[in-house]
Amino acid sequence: MVIVDGSVGEGGGQILRTSLALSLCLGIPFKITNIRAHRKKPGLRRQHLVCVHAAAQIGKAKVQGAKPGHQELTFIPADIAPGNYHFDIGTAGSTTLVLQTILPALMIAKGPSTLILEGGTHNPFAPPFDFMQRVFIPVINSMGPKINAQLERPGYYPKGGGRLNIKIQPAKKLRTFHINQRGEISECRANAIVAGLPRHIAERELGVIEQKLGWNKKCLRVIEQPADIGPGNIVCIEIKSKHITEIFTGFGKKGVRAEDVAKIAANAATRYLEAGVPVGKYLADQLLLPLALSGSGSFTTLKPTLHTRTNSDVIKFFLDINININQTSNDVWCISTSF
Ligand code: ATP
Repeated sequence: MVIVDGSVGEGGGQILRTSLALSLCLGIPFKITNIRAHRKKPGLRRQHLVCVHAAAQIGKAKVQGAKPGHQELTFIPADIAPGNYHFDIGTAGSTTLVLQTILPALMIAKGPSTLILEGGTHNPFAPPFDFMQRVFIPVINSMGPKINAQLERPGYYPKGGGRLNIKIQPAKKLRTFHINQRGEISECRANAIVAGLPRHIAERELGVIEQKLGWNKKCLRVIEQPADIGPGNIVCIEIKSKHITEIFTGFGKKGVRAEDVAKIAANAATRYLEAGVPVGKYLADQLLLPLALSGSGSFTTLKPTLHTRTNSDVIKFFLDINININQTSNDVWCISTSF
């Protein structure tokens, strides 16, 4: 049994999600201690318990300690069971973080699966649906699986109520990847979405993006969604290049000016464009696990976050693999895996 110290590095919920994903994929039981030791309210919260229950169903696992506030958990998986699953996270718990936990197992399972996930689809501190659909999943599809993700209804924090429909055709073996060049940029766009909020919020956000990135108005779009979905506001900057697409998101929040929401996304996009790398900081921590499962590969990214370094440490608890993280120039780093 692998023993995972949940207080390493970032000391957050990602350590649990990565452990669950790898435990399922490799059929290795684990015990995790000090769960979310570095968070204000440590231990398992509803969001993490949903990930544990979803992983337990898919892996027909025996679980001990899955209770709110608990800091220790044992997870003993049996086989991966592909099939049709429906997980309702309730309120605005993140659907994409549940997907992040169970997708690796289902994309190498013995048969196809369908997932209906209900809850939040555009939550702060989680990959927004658009990022999963147009950034993360295309890289996974390039490794062999065929995943189709549809947003049936958006769900914003704190109301939630969103719904994702995911179809997964697994691959027998994952192909590795080397994503070290971005290639020419083919399309740039920014969508500012408002649901049940005034249109001027989205217009002000796009004004900031127009000014900061110097983009033509044709690249900027206001999307108004029905009021009953809201309240919700996000701004998504999408940069499509020959070899990869990246998305930078600002999440609207009560009490935060629209201009400041847009600045977060615009500054992240500017940093990415200036560095010339293909992989942004969030995609980097999310690609490590599939990369490690596929063997020896590499990608070029920005300076790794503590999340990325922590994910690397957790992967090494489960897999006998080298993860090399090397700086190649100012804000350019290469991450590679090898046995
Ligand atoms: P907690 O301990 O509260 O559960 P955590 O530390 O485990 O939190 P987060 O920092 O919330 O987790 O990150 C969760 C995941 O969401 C990471 O994989 C990160 O890459 C991803 N993520 C966060 N924000 C974005 C974003 N704007 N775009 C894409 N992915 C994001």
